[in-house]
Amino acid sequence: MKNHQFDAIIVGAGGAGLMAALYASKGGAKVAVVSKLYPTRSHTGAAQGGIGAALGNKIGDEENPDSPLFHAYDTVKGGDWLTDQNAAKVLAEEAVDAVIELEHMGLPFDRTDEGKISQRRFGGHTLEFGSKRLAYRACHAADRTGHMILQTLYQQCIKNNVRFFDEFHVVDTLMNQGACVGVAAVELGTGELHIFHSKATLFASGGWGRCWQVTSNAHSMTGDGAAAVFRRGIPMQDMEFFQFHPTGIFKLGILITEGVRGEGGVLVNRHGERFMEKYAPSVKDLASRDVVSRAIYNEIQKGNGIGGKNYVYLDIRPETVNRYAAEAGEKKRIDREYVESKLPDILDFCRTYLGVDPVKEPMPIQPTAHYAMGGIPTNIDAEVVIDENNTVLPGMYAAGETACVSVHGANRLGTNSLVDLIVFGRRGGMNIAEFVKTAQFIDLPKDAGREVEAEFERIRTSKGKTRAYTLRDTMQQTMNDNVGVYRTEETMQKAIDDLHALRNTYYQDLLVDDRGRKFNTEVLEAWELGNLLELAEITAVSAKARKESRGAHSREDYPDRDDVNFRKHTLVYREGAAPYGAEIPAYRVTVEKPVDTSLEVEDPRFAPKVRVY
Ligand SMILES: Cc1cc2nc3c(=O)[nH]c(=O)nc-3n(C[C@H](O)[C@H](O)[C@H](O)COP(=O)(O)OP(=O)(O)OC[C@H]3O[C@@H](n4cnc5c(N)ncnc54)[C@H](O)[C@@H]3O)c2cc1C
Repeated sequence: MKNHQFDAIIVGAGGAGLMAALYASKGGAKVAVVSKLYPTRSHTGAAQGGIGAALGNKIGDEENPDSPLFHAYDTVKGGDWLTDQNAAKVLAEEAVDAVIELEHMGLPFDRTDEGKISQRRFGGHTLEFGSKRLAYRACHAADRTGHMILQTLYQQCIKNNVRFFDEFHVVDTLMNQGACVGVAAVELGTGELHIFHSKATLFASGGWGRCWQVTSNAHSMTGDGAAAVFRRGIPMQDMEFFQFHPTGIFKLGILITEGVRGEGGVLVNRHGERFMEKYAPSVKDLASRDVVSRAIYNEIQKGNGIGGKNYVYLDIRPETVNRYAAEAGEKKRIDREYVESKLPDILDFCRTYLGVDPVKEPMPIQPTAHYAMGGIPTNIDAEVVIDENNTVLPGMYAAGETACVSVHGANRLGTNSLVDLIVFGRRGGMNIAEFVKTAQFIDLPKDAGREVEAEFERIRTSKGKTRAYTLRDTMQQTMNDNVGVYRTEETMQKAIDDLHALRNTYYQDLLVDDRGRKFNTEVLEAWELGNLLELAEITAVSAKARKESRGAHSREDYPDRDDVNFRKHTLVYREGAAPYGAEIPAYRVTVEKPVDTSLEVEDPRFAPKVRVY
């Protein structure tokens, strides 16, 4: 084992991790980023559509009188009133200056004719408290916004002497005296275990979309950080809320950005009907994602999928877009060149993977597992909290998709993840810089890293009959079938039973061929599967406990939202079993954590409403 010591360790080099590292280092802390991927390969680089901020830039001849107040309202409403309103306020207000800061760091945003940052429409973003008027709020660099954010922040971190440990997999959280004192990580190139001792540790390790079969998420999205924290007794919040993005490429799950609909694209069924007019007569195709995903699912159930199959069309052909724009009395008209310049990567994906040219033909799409609203509970300063009373766990921080602030509530709006990374990553970094100025190093726990080392040995030498990828396929299938867009008590129980069987096989009958230590991706993938199995199960367990439908959690057996009993956050705790081992732990779930309602206390317009679109 090798030992390292830094004031602050940042786990993950996506947008959240890099922003936190940048600000912690600017504040004088000695910072290391530990990342299983080379930083610019993080999933943030796949983000396409844009980053939301109420800049209110004029678009062509259309005025855009936007305000952070409207952005905060949309975030609360989009989250189906489970969003913590103090967090929504911070997000909307700090987004404006955070985006301008990115611009000043050199991020090449698209421009309006006046040279301002170009903004487009996105689902659920409106003006004046959910009125019919859609806001132009998504700042973008073509459809490569996340890619540009990563490149920009990585360069800034290098400039600021942040130390990078690339291709190091964090596998365990080190705790002592009730505080987080660092992490243990496996170096991919050597297989060696490294101990990182720190005063502050921030988890920015991304989501776990790989629990599902059809997903927009990269292979690396296996929730390692969340699982490593959870195994050490920290609860997970609101795990039942996992977003299905309406428009993934049929079967492949690859994301087609909501920016396509933001630019005027429409969804149509086998009869050529623009079916969102029925489900959301006012905002139509730009309703929030939970609403659109359910509409697609319902159309497919009714046999209205294309050719009766389980997909519908997304149409961005200029003639279609212009026809609907004319009907709506809008002045804007688009042509082939416009689509090519605004959505180059989307066109490329469709031409490459489907042989479909979206400027000539509609794209076959279906909902795809996309984003974890839940995760490691934090307050608005990115400090990890461990109970209903928001008790802070010293030394532990989280930001980005792996964290649950909760700024997205039960359903995230498009473009709000990238803002979340930048705003709360920055807050985390600033707070860490202050914290480490006075905090002392707490000793490492006795035998730090030994337990996880033994677990890796078990996996590396396992000689059963079942390979990890077989187990992974079955897990993904059961999660898609049973904990998908719609759920019931029976389907969720079925998923839990299936997952128990898979976990037993994982411990008793795993087969690994590669017994080497260097670059052993087979062992690491098997270990990632262990994380996914646990996160999948606590998703189902949390979902069972919430006997209502809200945001991304739609129960056929409880179709209504129940604000009296369930306008609260879920916390799930792991109990009774060792962090590693064959025994399946007990999971204790509470749906008791209060939602912050500070905005609605001041302004009744923020209070819950029945959702009408
Ligand atoms: C295809 C796609 C398009 C999207 N488009 C948009 C959009 O237009 N707008 C928007 O707001 N949101 C979008 N999102 C969502 C958004 O991009 C993500 O939620 C966000 O980028 C997550 O950032 P992050 O910093 O939390 O983590 P990520 O960018 O996922 O990075 C995770 C980091 O953690 C590291 N890591 C993981 N496990 C370990 C481990 N065990 N040890 C060490 N390091 C580890 C990885 O190496 C990586 O550096 C999109 C998502 C997808 C998948």
